[in-house]
Amino acid sequence: MADTTSSSSLFSAFARAPIHFERGEGVRLFTTDGTEYLDFAAGIAVNSLGHSHPDLVAALAEQGQKLWHVSNLYESPQQESLAEQLCAHSFAERVFFTNSGTESMECCFKTARRWHYENGAPERVDIITFEGAFHGRSLAAISAGGNQKYITGFGPQVPGFVQVPFGDLDVVKATISETTAAILIEPIQGEGGIIPAPHQFLRGLRELCDEHGLLLIYDEIQCGIGRTGKLFAHQWVEGAEPDIMGIAKGIGGGFPIGACLATENAASGMQPGTHGTTYGGNLLGMAIGNKVMDIVMADGFLDDVNQKAIFLKQKLAEVADSFPELIEGVRGEGLMQGLKCKASNLDVVGACRKQHLLSVPAGDNVVRLLPPLTVSEAEMQEAVEKITLALSSLQEAS
Ligand SMILES: *Cc1c(COP(=O)(O)O)cnc(C)c1O
Repeated sequence: MADTTSSSSLFSAFARAPIHFERGEGVRLFTTDGTEYLDFAAGIAVNSLGHSHPDLVAALAEQGQKLWHVSNLYESPQQESLAEQLCAHSFAERVFFTNSGTESMECCFKTARRWHYENGAPERVDIITFEGAFHGRSLAAISAGGNQKYITGFGPQVPGFVQVPFGDLDVVKATISETTAAILIEPIQGEGGIIPAPHQFLRGLRELCDEHGLLLIYDEIQCGIGRTGKLFAHQWVEGAEPDIMGIAKGIGGGFPIGACLATENAASGMQPGTHGTTYGGNLLGMAIGNKVMDIVMADGFLDDVNQKAIFLKQKLAEVADSFPELIEGVRGEGLMQGLKCKASNLDVVGACRKQHLLSVPAGDNVVRLLPPLTVSEAEMQEAVEKITLALSSLQEAS
């Protein structure tokens, strides 16, 4: 049995680093004793505009003084306006708001199955997913993700998810049957280790869906909202728009919101009573989400992200070249970069933390660097210097 002697009153589900942050400002975090950290974890791609962005703080305070919550029993101009913004800049025509990534994916699954049900094919329930995927931690989401580490010990899997290797179109094709409803993929696997899907593969999935009457679902919870230099990562790919997409993380800038986006057709099965949420679309979250979209879609913001991404990628490539025994290479898009390690990725994350740089481990022995989109070139330079120091210390120790 696991250690039950901890004095904490919390579940031991998280292996927490012994740091207590008290305050954040931009890309920096400060502990209770005033120690400063450079935050290239960003709450796992959540703090898209950094900590305590003055416009987000103001939006939260302003809404907080007016009204917090009324439920989805009434009209919501705030939801309408955020949905309009998301639709104006994407394939989507309809939006359902949630409180987290997992709930967004749950809505994606239900929307896809319901569409087939309403279109005379209730037997079409299976969703094809990919090895290395991560879609959240509910029972359905762990079945969709297929990671045994997350599935073991939690009873029977939720049926209706069929997993195939990432990137093999022929296998996907061979897996499609009369019970297939949809194909689900992260355009860039995040937890799996910053693995971008080849553009040709995404286009191939789109074609297969069209050929077989399936719905294409994207999970852009981590790679969306400007992370790759476009609002959504798949927008780099010609001819590969989804029918349904889950987002969360960056859209709330730190406030827990998510959304399921869909075409009007794909959303058409979700009539009154089919789905619901008490908190989803909450006014505080909507105030912030609207502001995040204003900022990310403002003229020049994403151009700037792209400029910075070139700088970061180049600097990281130099670091990788300098430590060939520890780092195998750099991969990713935009400000979603991964260092594929030869050393243990946990050791690298730990060594970076000793230099007061926060990063996030991922699958496939990768260290994720996910700075706020507002990071400056000077801050990226500083991060790279810290990574260099961290890797030097690991090299000396080995
Ligand atoms: C974080 C994440 C989720 C789950 O989001 P939660 O808000 O933790 O429920 C799902 N899919 C992807 C790709 C993610 O990165």
